[in-house]
Amino acid sequence: MAQQKTGAQALNAQLEDKVSRSVALLQQAVRDHGTVTYSCSLGAESMVLTDLIWTQAPAIDIFTLDTGRLHEQTYTLLEMLERRYQRRMRLIHPQSQAVEAWVAANGINGFYYDVAARKSCCHLRKIEPFARAIKGFGAWVTGVRHEQSADRAQIPAVEFDAANGLHKVSPILDWTHDDVWAYIRAKGLVYNPLHDQGFPSIGCSPCTRAIEPGEDNRAGRWWWENTDSRECGLQSRARPAAKAPA
Ligand code: SF4
Repeated sequence: MAQQKTGAQALNAQLEDKVSRSVALLQQAVRDHGTVTYSCSLGAESMVLTDLIWTQAPAIDIFTLDTGRLHEQTYTLLEMLERRYQRRMRLIHPQSQAVEAWVAANGINGFYYDVAARKSCCHLRKIEPFARAIKGFGAWVTGVRHEQSADRAQIPAVEFDAANGLHKVSPILDWTHDDVWAYIRAKGLVYNPLHDQGFPSIGCSPCTRAIEPGEDNRAGRWWWENTDSRECGLQSRARPAAKAPA
């Protein structure tokens, strides 16, 4: 976990250099692709990128996916961001009829009881809205970093995202976890208080939990789908209570 503190601090020269290169990439993306949007997850990296975009590359659009199941702290964070920067973030919602049909078929928390249902919930609350959100843009910005996974270690800063049909720009690839928090502290940025309670990443409330020291960062997501539990046929001790009757 990060040891988050707020209060103005100077950035070291190495981080200043990374900031400059990240800003240059964002500004170049606008020149190269015209319309650019940032898919803001509202996690720690997003606080950095939102700050860089709204202060130094304001032509870039920012949106976030409001799945309808976010933590209350996340909605409060959204409001704090809008107040701080005096800008409105574009909120993309799932299609209401799709949500209604899914809940009618699976129950309000049906994602806990069936992997296919969980994936279809993610599809209608995240994947379809994301595709809608980036439609018509020349490029989209991500907050991925090289050190986050072996796959992400291979990502170039700019590439064509063939699956979505537009360019993808990753301006903070070479930032470390400590860089992200050093920037947040130095600038006194707002961030989700759940990070201080053991949440390395923050998604939908029912599908994200805090992690224990030593656990993988992704262990807090869809934890009931734990591979070991499935293989031995036992339910995870963290599995939610039994499904309510239909
Ligand atoms: S994370 Fe959970 S609540 Fe959110 S879209 Fe996926 S299954 Fe649904």
